Amino acid sequence: MSQNDTLFTRAQRVIPGGVNSPVRAFRAVGGTPRFIARGEGAYIVDADGKRYIDYIGSWGPMILGHGHPAVIDAVQRAVVEGLSFGAPTEREIELAEEILRLVPSCEQIRLVSSGTEATMSAIRLARGATGRNKFIKFEGCYHGHTDALLVKAGSGLATFGHPTSAGVPEATAQHTLVLEYNNVEQLEEAFALHGAELACVIVEPIAGNMNFVRASVPFMTRLRELCSAHGALLVLDEVMTGFRVGLRSAQGHYADLIPGFKPDISVFGKVIGGGMPLAAFGASRDIMKHLAPLGGVYQAGTLSGNPVATACGLATLREIAKPGFFEALSARTRRLVDGLTQVAADNGVPFSADSEGGMFGFFLLPSLPATYTEVMRTDKERFNRFFHAMLDDGVYLAPALYEAGFVSAAHSDADIDATLDAARRALR
Ligand code: PLP
Repeated sequence: MSQNDTLFTRAQRVIPGGVNSPVRAFRAVGGTPRFIARGEGAYIVDADGKRYIDYIGSWGPMILGHGHPAVIDAVQRAVVEGLSFGAPTEREIELAEEILRLVPSCEQIRLVSSGTEATMSAIRLARGATGRNKFIKFEGCYHGHTDALLVKAGSGLATFGHPTSAGVPEATAQHTLVLEYNNVEQLEEAFALHGAELACVIVEPIAGNMNFVRASVPFMTRLRELCSAHGALLVLDEVMTGFRVGLRSAQGHYADLIPGFKPDISVFGKVIGGGMPLAAFGASRDIMKHLAPLGGVYQAGTLSGNPVATACGLATLREIAKPGFFEALSARTRRLVDGLTQVAADNGVPFSADSEGGMFGFFLLPSLPATYTEVMRTDKERFNRFFHAMLDDGVYLAPALYEAGFVSAAHSDADIDATLDAARRALR
């Protein structure tokens, strides 16, 4: 019995399903999850001592790879100074200043400890600032596990959503309207019906929770226009894309494509914590003034702005802000995606792939999908066989076909080549 099997058996005795976040359990792909003993640059090493090229990177945060010296040094120094004070520190200001310098749509930012907290608070802020309750989200986008966000579409646009999780009251889902991603027509209809009651629309600009699906330019353009016309706030959930798809995040990318584009509220997580629990939401001063202690929208956290997490996040942001960082990361990620596409073509496998900065996705589909329904047309059995063949060959991809992949600055051309060789063997 491998050490991974032993640990999984032991874990299942004391932790539901043996994991502290469901996707880690490998339920979608089958088999035993790997228990990770340590990370080294682009690699992770499991409990059996087997090394993998890591394309999950803790689901996004590890943009510098594991154990980057500048990050480790910053964390070690912070740890010695104190783990938590529950009082303000200068480093929180430094991190806020660094984020705001890179995100011109925000004038102020509030630090929290997880993406779930950040999106939950962003929606409360939008509701508090507008005095409205209802909001729109899109099928296939994930914004954390807050009650009002674990919702699927009702029947037709006149009805609001139903919970996707047990334990979420129907009443909680009744203010959430779920629409199809990239569907401009539905968006128009929904605003025509409910525009005056909408506090906000929350959207992943590049949806990384249905693998990798870009919001089309017409969709994003119309979304911005409709929000402005109806007084609803546009909340861009950049927990995954923030400082991952580019230094200016996805909003910078869309601002280049859509003149004047900017969100009203932005949500960040993952990369801004560099691997420690840290997330944030920000907006104009005019919107942020509604937050306690200035305004009536309550939000708080014992560990918010934690001194070790902020040290880790700051060190990470300073590294990725260095000249040429994203050019190199984007080129390496593109090389992976183009290489995989070529390998698939050589083997006659239907395949499509896309990337932006250090985030990528691939589909066993002949062309890139635009909606959740299209993503789910993937041949799951084939994906699972590919996943396990790659894993056996030392390549750690996301264990579900609806998850994005991540390349770090520690991945070398040799790592990409090794990955392509493994894909060649797997697809053959
Ligand atoms: N929003 C997006 C876009 C995410 O991808 C995630 C997590 O994957 C979240 C929010 C929730 O973040 P967390 O897992 O830190 O609560």
